[in-house]
Amino acid sequence: MNALAATNRNFRQAARILGLDAKIEKSLLIPFREIKVECTIPKDDGTLASYVGFRVQHDNARGPMKGGIRYHPEVDPDEVNALAQLMTWKTAVADIPYGGAKGGIGCSPEDLSTSELERLTRVFTQKIHDLIGVNTDVPAPDMGTNSQTMAWILDEYSKFHGYSPAVVTGKPVDLGGSLGRDSATGRGVLFATEALLAEHGKSIKGSTFVIQGFGNVGSWAARLIHESGGKVIALSDVTGALKNPNGIDVPKLIRHKEIGNGKLADFSDADRMSPDEILTHECDVLIPCALGGVLNRENAGDVKAKFIIEGANHPTDPEADEILSKKGVVILPDIYANSGGVMVSYFEWVQNIQGFMWDEEKVNSELKRYMSKAFGNIKALCGSHGCNPRMGAFVLGVNRVARATVLRGWEA
Ligand code: GLU
Repeated sequence: MNALAATNRNFRQAARILGLDAKIEKSLLIPFREIKVECTIPKDDGTLASYVGFRVQHDNARGPMKGGIRYHPEVDPDEVNALAQLMTWKTAVADIPYGGAKGGIGCSPEDLSTSELERLTRVFTQKIHDLIGVNTDVPAPDMGTNSQTMAWILDEYSKFHGYSPAVVTGKPVDLGGSLGRDSATGRGVLFATEALLAEHGKSIKGSTFVIQGFGNVGSWAARLIHESGGKVIALSDVTGALKNPNGIDVPKLIRHKEIGNGKLADFSDADRMSPDEILTHECDVLIPCALGGVLNRENAGDVKAKFIIEGANHPTDPEADEILSKKGVVILPDIYANSGGVMVSYFEWVQNIQGFMWDEEKVNSELKRYMSKAFGNIKALCGSHGCNPRMGAFVLGVNRVARATVLRGWEA
């Protein structure tokens, strides 16, 4: 099922549970604004290359729209729409004063040079600068983008509107980025996992973990879980997959990757395995941190994990959700499990507006407080509505957005 159909289905189910008025349901489904722009750049060899860029602004009832910008070949309008909608529910579940948005450019960033990426980012920013802003829509990194991408957006935006650091989050710390933002999504995954395991009388220490994806989210989640005493027994990225039943030495793997651009698949202290087997590998906790739709009806029946923490956005499609739920697998959904990133984005935006920088300890302790509060709120709704954590999170998020929408009214 495509990402948008899946997201709409979860939303509609939450709307039914809430008994949402049909008019509000319809208005929450239709995005506030969809932007599609042509981005043509001269390549380093002098030829021209054209790309399509998107920004979908889904909803702003609770505040400025917020969400990442993704550079990936599979970026398409339906996927960006789904991810923008997920951001609306994610910011509401986190209880931070934002709506939801998402953007992307259909490209393979690893095939572009740094100066080509800079030109592409600047052209995209020139096309959308009038439609983003500190109080309207605040982009951040996502797959294929990073703090450098945000620095270019900030610089290009500032040429039109004056220096405005709060127009993007996930910036380099030297340009007003927040301490702890880089690790925030992975640290949020750690806090979510701790909370879920504690509820089931377990802990990180003594549990085994399989992590799919070793980008920003996966590598930080792996590092922090390893530091907390968890055994990471299998890992994968685009170059391949690794397993070690005694636990992979994650800090050593990170050093291997950093030194001389080492490939994960060439790490010598673990055995190679097929990347197709990573999701069905025996473990206590499975953490998908890569692409959407990776858990589907083809492989869900073979999943052996007891818990799934969605570090990625939309890794589980609804058919897999049903199969996994029948097997008794407990899933912490994306709109909660990976919300640490946008939570610390919010702290960054607050620091920029206040012109005051927090130390990293404060960032991490506030992150823990927000993650615990959201976990408690979801749990309470699961109890009162007899639903699973995904529906509990959707009901929580949709209800907060619907309430804000009604309070603001519709008079033209
Ligand atoms: N791209 C991240 C996400 O999907 C972070 C978004 C943000 O910080 O605005 O949640």
